[in-house]
Amino acid sequence: MREQLTSSVIPDTASDLNEMFNQEILSHFLDGVITIDGQGIIHSVNRAVEQIFGYTSVQLLGANVSLLMPQPFRSHHDEYIRQYQHTGQASIIGKGQREVRGQRADGTVFPMDLAVFEFTVGDQIHYCGILRDISARKQIETDLRIASYAFEAPIGMVVTDARTRILKVNHAFTRITGYTEREAIGNPASLLRSDHHPAEFWTDMWDCLYQNHIWEGEVWSRRKNGEMFPKWLTVTAIRDEAGSISHYIATMNDLSEQKASEEAIRQLALYDPLTGLPNRRLLMDRLRQAMSVGARNALYGALLFIDLDHFKTLNDTLGHSCGDQLLKQVADSLSGCIRQSDTVARLGGDEFVIMLVELSSDPISAAERTKLVVNSIIDKFKEPFLLNEEHFHTTPSIGATLFVGHRESIDDLLIQADLAMYKAKSTGRNGYCFFDPEMQSAALKRSTLEMDIRQGIQQEQFVVYYQPQVNVKEQIKAFEALLRWQHPLRGFVSPSEFIPLAEETGLIIPLGLWVIESACRQLVAWSQDEQRREHSIAVNVSAKQIYHSDFVAEVKDIIDRTGADPHLLKMELTESLLLANVDESIIKMKQLRDLGIRFSLDDFGTGYSSLNHLKRLPLDQLKIDQSFVRDVLLDEHDATIARTIIALGESMSLNVIAEGVESSEQKEFLIRCGCRCFQGYLFGYPDLPERY
Ligand code: C2E
Ligand code: CA
Ligand code: CA
Repeated sequence: MREQLTSSVIPDTASDLNEMFNQEILSHFLDGVITIDGQGIIHSVNRAVEQIFGYTSVQLLGANVSLLMPQPFRSHHDEYIRQYQHTGQASIIGKGQREVRGQRADGTVFPMDLAVFEFTVGDQIHYCGILRDISARKQIETDLRIASYAFEAPIGMVVTDARTRILKVNHAFTRITGYTEREAIGNPASLLRSDHHPAEFWTDMWDCLYQNHIWEGEVWSRRKNGEMFPKWLTVTAIRDEAGSISHYIATMNDLSEQKASEEAIRQLALYDPLTGLPNRRLLMDRLRQAMSVGARNALYGALLFIDLDHFKTLNDTLGHSCGDQLLKQVADSLSGCIRQSDTVARLGGDEFVIMLVELSSDPISAAERTKLVVNSIIDKFKEPFLLNEEHFHTTPSIGATLFVGHRESIDDLLIQADLAMYKAKSTGRNGYCFFDPEMQSAALKRSTLEMDIRQGIQQEQFVVYYQPQVNVKEQIKAFEALLRWQHPLRGFVSPSEFIPLAEETGLIIPLGLWVIESACRQLVAWSQDEQRREHSIAVNVSAKQIYHSDFVAEVKDIIDRTGADPHLLKMELTESLLLANVDESIIKMKQLRDLGIRFSLDDFGTGYSSLNHLKRLPLDQLKIDQSFVRDVLLDEHDATIARTIIALGESMSLNVIAEGVESSEQKEFLIRCGCRCFQGYLFGYPDLPERY
């Protein structure tokens, strides 16, 4: 019978069936049950005790219970036993429940919960201990404690349920996002979402999470205060035993500081700390890039070396902080002179470099454009700088060189620009110099002309001449206003020479308005004249003018101011101008037409207008270009063109005028073709209005 019992007792204490039954129950206990006598001798153990300690019941029964204790306790226990034997007091063994340590047969020490109570058999006190191995629970507690320490690491952490509702956040999370634990818990994790990423970004993230259980990447989030910030996010999907996602754990690193320091490093490496301008390294980089682009599109760029005159003296007399202030202001001024695609860099000291890109495919016009920038720089320096609230004047010396593709090396270019700058300095400061003498003379000629036009406007050297436009009977019906320049030294300057430059420099805007105003005054003067009151005046208008944003308003202003009849005012526009931007042209023309102004298409036939486009324009007249009229009797081809234009005008209900008519044969031919209006030396040269 005993063999079948899995709890064991010292044979003579097992007595009856009832006792057996108890033993049977005890054998199924998960907790260990052990009885000892007052001397610590083990009288019974159940199966759990054997399993927990790794001894067989045979080894345990009759042994001292101190066998199951680790060394330090063993000696205490032995002490208790000795005291008990001496005093007969057993209470010191310690009764009640507590956590103690046990030692297994293999020597390992483990924690256990122990409850002890005493009972008597005869007059002998016995003790019963009920013990439970709690090492597994302890391990979990330790793990949890470690986890909770880890959870409070300086990295932001969030635990969510499967529906991404926030269950737990740590302190770092609060520090990073601004949301306290209370504010965050219960909210969806999208609480932090910014609208920086497109919807596909998030779909990709979830796809990846489902497949790989983990996703990481840079994400822009929003803090509680609304601020956007970059973070490195790692999300891990936690699955339960059934394999379905039960939780997500996300860790986040705030990258904003890292980004800021990256940016700071970039700034330090590539920018001049004083002015914030690109430094030499960045300039070289951009120059290399510009040369590669130039090699492809064959457009010239320019490199300008700019050095402040007498900067050293300023630095020595007013001190370095003044010098620094000046350099900063110069940096701002120079930045204001260039387009966004260009670069201003500071190489150090008072040396600045400007790189202009994609100027022109033609070196002369690239030089001219460079000159415009140089002029605007020199103009900027005419205004005083403010140093310690004192006005201060300085001038630049500028050296320029052109580049296209990789024809010269970067070093050569820098040397060229530098040499040109020294030449500029030596030929009297506040000047500029091109490395290439040919460029220099082109730019020089150009700049004198430009200055002269400015002066010409101021000194009223411009005059408007009028050339009559006649009908079949050679009666004057209108005049074309043609600009004349009486230069005090150079004499008469042809409009073909100065109009293109005026257009390029923008001077055509004031000049053109001046012509329109003169024409309007002429109309008003003629309105008193019985013979002339119905004559209209045609004014030439160039592209720069009509596309200028204030043009319509300025014209209206002139009409209002002069009191001229706008119905007598005509504008001559060229095909190429109108077709440069058809939609914009139509808008502008309609606005002007609302004022009463009419339109003539000048130089018609020389462009390649498509009729479709022309049909959309609110035109009144086609003007056959003089080149066709000139040879209309000699060249069959030109005659055909003239004939076709006249027929076209008729079909579109447009008036047609032939210009440059010099002989009556030409006139007769054109009449036979159906032309009704004429202009040319045959009827009158451009002249002062009083001559007519
Ligand atoms: P355009 O508008 O084609 O002007 C006609 C040109 O032909 C004028 O030259 C005129 O003097 C000339 N001409 C007139 N009749 C005859 C002729 O029978 N035979 C020959 N061979 N030529 C004749 P001009 O005055 O030198 O003007 C040249 C160009 O300058 C004009 O060409 C026009 O495009 C431009 N222009 C003149 N004045 C102005 C103006 O006030 N504003 C603008 N934007 N451009 C103007
Ligand atoms: Ca004209
Ligand atoms: Ca013309």
